Amino acid sequence: MSYNKNMNKDIYDVIVVGAGITGSFIARELSKYTLKVCVLEKANDVGNGATNANSAIIHSGYDPIPGTNKAKFNVLGNKMFDQIADELDVSFRRIGSLTVANFPEQVSMLEELAKRSKENGVEVKILSGEEVAKMEPNIPNSYGALYAPTAGIINPFNLCIHAMENAVDNGVKLCLSNKVISIKYEDELFYVTTDKDTYVSKIVINAAGNYADQIANMINKVDWSITPRKGEYYVLDHKVKNFVNHVIFPLPSEKGKGVLVTKTTSDNYLVGPSSEVINDKDDVSTDKMTLDNVKSQANLLVKGIPYNTCIRTFSGLRPSCSRHDFVIEKDSKFDHFINVGGIESPGLVSAPAIAKYVVEELVSSISLLINKKDYNSRVRRYPHIKEVKPEIRDKMIKDNPDFGEMICDCEQISLGEINDILSRSVPPRSVKGVKRRVRAGFGRCQGGFCSPKVVLLLAKHYGISPLEVPLDDEGSNVLLEKVKVVD
Ligand SMILES: Cc1cc2nc3c(=O)[nH]c(=O)nc-3n(C[C@H](O)[C@H](O)[C@H](O)COP(=O)(O)OP(=O)(O)OC[C@H]3O[C@@H](n4cnc5c(N)ncnc54)[C@H](O)[C@@H]3O)c2cc1C
Repeated sequence: MSYNKNMNKDIYDVIVVGAGITGSFIARELSKYTLKVCVLEKANDVGNGATNANSAIIHSGYDPIPGTNKAKFNVLGNKMFDQIADELDVSFRRIGSLTVANFPEQVSMLEELAKRSKENGVEVKILSGEEVAKMEPNIPNSYGALYAPTAGIINPFNLCIHAMENAVDNGVKLCLSNKVISIKYEDELFYVTTDKDTYVSKIVINAAGNYADQIANMINKVDWSITPRKGEYYVLDHKVKNFVNHVIFPLPSEKGKGVLVTKTTSDNYLVGPSSEVINDKDDVSTDKMTLDNVKSQANLLVKGIPYNTCIRTFSGLRPSCSRHDFVIEKDSKFDHFINVGGIESPGLVSAPAIAKYVVEELVSSISLLINKKDYNSRVRRYPHIKEVKPEIRDKMIKDNPDFGEMICDCEQISLGEINDILSRSVPPRSVKGVKRRVRAGFGRCQGGFCSPKVVLLLAKHYGISPLEVPLDDEGSNVLLEKVKVVD
């Protein structure tokens, strides 16, 4: 296939495959320049892969092996987050992490980790068991811990969605529900064919998460592969206050950082994840045996975890690479094809620094980068009715009564907030898309009360029947048939 004018197609400077956190930050970084950029994503929303289910920790960088891509981009990325959270209006708190020694023989490992932290350029301090108990009353009997004050927690859904929204606001074209099925190279152009269309570009950036090896192999056989490693979690309600105040890790092992206990930016608690290599790149089921194992490991770490407040379990798939590191490089045969694969943990914290490197170092070596004069690094502020002072809330409701109409009672999410996200440049298409953006359905009843209202709002917004509204990706419709008339 070669390009002829009759094809009547746009020629993009860059096509990004995958709209997870990696693809979204790369798109945002590219949008700073006068490039014509298109993102192809197979799901009907951004951030629906590994980015949708993780621990949401902005790791300090004490753990990755010095000299690796993981260490480099984790540490660089962590430093960028105060500015990013502000520009993209995302909840972010540097609550610090404690990596706890539960047995006397683990104390020497704290020293080793402190040495590794120093090599990575990460500020840490070794605390005694008494100091740990003062900071965390539910860890009364430890043998000490490594304290990393720069670790933080973030809302990962909003981080990804807002990064892509910012990219789209700055001119990037986002094509959802477009699964890349083949890529051909001819006359210095890539022809990227999806299940919907063929897109033409001078440069392709592969950020396809667990499928990055398959996308890479479409153009040239690569010497690395991705195997998903599943992590299962418990989510606890925010009923119990200050159960833990920091991210609590065990000592890391060859399987990773281990089962952690942390609060989230919405004051829920996460307990997990497990670590299990699987074959199916889409299997996000949970099972009792694995979760029981998570429980027993977490119980060694923190006393009295209130499992009776568990509102949900979930799992995510780490895109683990055979190279045991992030792959961020040009293809060996096609230097206009850039692979960004194997982005497992700490991929969330690393994403902004990876994006900067990919654009400023790799793309700049093959394409001229001219700054866009009207680039705006900020998203329009999001209204948060639950978080504002009463006088501001009263004014918001007076100005727009939709802010006074609650759709999700558990999480106090109003119609005004849902109307706001529907009016943005990356609006939700599904019930879970609404949930990820504003937390409607994240609470104690898990959407039991608000989901029907959300289905009707989406149906009205898109002018479709409620029967056509998906729970999540295309085809996952919530309702099967009409049983009674709904006003
Ligand atoms: C259990 C777990 C815990 C984690 N905890 C942390 C943590 O606390 N901190 C941290 O920094 N990192 C953490 N991570 C890692 C982090 O979540 C990932 O590194 C990151 O989300 C990877 O993002 P990505 O964009 O590379 O991949 P993804 O989010 O998977 O995005 C890839 C996208 O490509 C799309 N795609 C795939 N194939 C195609 C195709 N053929 N055509 C078009 N689109 C396609 C997918 O639909 C997907 O949207 C964790 C991961 C897991 C699973």
